[in-house]
Amino acid sequence: MTTTTVRDVSVFGDAMAYFEEAASLLNLELGIRALLTHPSRQIIFAIPFQRDNGSLEVYTGYRVQYNFARGPAKGGIRYHPGVTLDEVTALAFWMTWKCAVVDLPFGGAKGGVTCDPGNLSPGELERITRRYAAELVEVVGPDKDVPAPDVGTTPQIMAWFMDTYSMHMRTSVPGVVTGKPVEIGGSAGRVEATGRGVSLLAFEEMRHLGIAPGDARVVVQGFGNVGSVAAKMFAAGGCKVIGISDISGGYVNRNGIDVAGATAYAQEHHSLKGYRGGEHVSNEDLLEVECDVLVPAALEKVLTVENAERIRAKLIVEAANGPTTPEADHILQRKGTVIVPDIIGNAGGVIVSYFEWVQDRQGYFWRESEVNERLEDLLLTNFRRVREVALARKVPYRTAAYVVAIERVVRSMKMRGVYA
Ligand code: NAD
Repeated sequence: MTTTTVRDVSVFGDAMAYFEEAASLLNLELGIRALLTHPSRQIIFAIPFQRDNGSLEVYTGYRVQYNFARGPAKGGIRYHPGVTLDEVTALAFWMTWKCAVVDLPFGGAKGGVTCDPGNLSPGELERITRRYAAELVEVVGPDKDVPAPDVGTTPQIMAWFMDTYSMHMRTSVPGVVTGKPVEIGGSAGRVEATGRGVSLLAFEEMRHLGIAPGDARVVVQGFGNVGSVAAKMFAAGGCKVIGISDISGGYVNRNGIDVAGATAYAQEHHSLKGYRGGEHVSNEDLLEVECDVLVPAALEKVLTVENAERIRAKLIVEAANGPTTPEADHILQRKGTVIVPDIIGNAGGVIVSYFEWVQDRQGYFWRESEVNERLEDLLLTNFRRVREVALARKVPYRTAAYVVAIERVVRSMKMRGVYA
């Protein structure tokens, strides 16, 4: 009788498959490996809230604190109908490696509420956020766990979170969350940081591959905070952005999309729906457009075994978390596609979140140019370290990024010792 091993295809299963690939190169002790594959704490709770019409509804909230070895846990809050414990756990796991690969003094966490923010009024969003924050008062804080925005959450939502926590503490605690408006302790440059980081890495890798920005055709999937800023930076750097997309579909213009015009359109209409600056295609077709650089900046599992063979980009910079399944990753590696993986690809956001936390704690705020300079330095220094490991071990960037991150986390764990 033969047995087949079936891989866990949950989002956390995808995350684990990448971890295992790198961990196997490091000969980690079994105990350490077991610790790293178990979240420290998973919290699920009810969020009762009142709709504007007076009726009472109950949503589900989550916070997963994956690892604290290098410092307080750090990670965003997602408001989306697809939020599950599996997804939040995977995202918390990725945050652990993301903070370590860019050498921040943080562990990893993530949170979320299963809801559709597009169908909630500002008042309803505020009530959900305040209840979400109140449920977490004991376990978050500048020295415990520091949330931030993610899909479906905004600086305003961070402001309500900070205010609720501060009310409970009876003192103002700006450092409990990052991604706040600058007026109340946010950092200059935070809103643009993730998209800026994506483009910095893309330009760095294009230099390495010998692709001149003026010759580069770029496709960006997702036109929210990250995708729209990345598209703007690509256009500013001389690239031709030939495709963009959001939930309403893709828009392709081989002569170049007017990114500023598309951004203004999306802001006015809250979506690209009806945008006429490019031919309308499906989101699936957008990913398959021939280009030099592809930036998935929406959600998980968009590059899969179904479409990997048809992806024609030379370079993929993962702005979303987990956009490529492990099976698709193997196909793309075989085809020679260079991938800058999510854990460093979108780390610009958490780097400037770290700067925001530092500024809040010292009560002294930096100029935007200083923030951007420090972001570039930290991100590119660590990416070059990943490249060195990739070349030395003859492995793809993804495996090298995990190797660098796992080594750093394990070193901290061993220095602290395990309270067992
Ligand atoms: P956002 O909510 O601002 O934007 C998400 C975008 O994706 C929207 O344009 C939406 O229409 C689009 N989208 C949703 N479903 C889609 C689909 N099926 N096909 C195509 N487009 C779709 O979110 P964001 O903050 O820009 O985050 C995008 C990704 O980047 C997420 O994976 C997030 O975890 C990751 N990320 C964000 C940050 C940050 O600082 N915001 C940091 C690190 C990673």
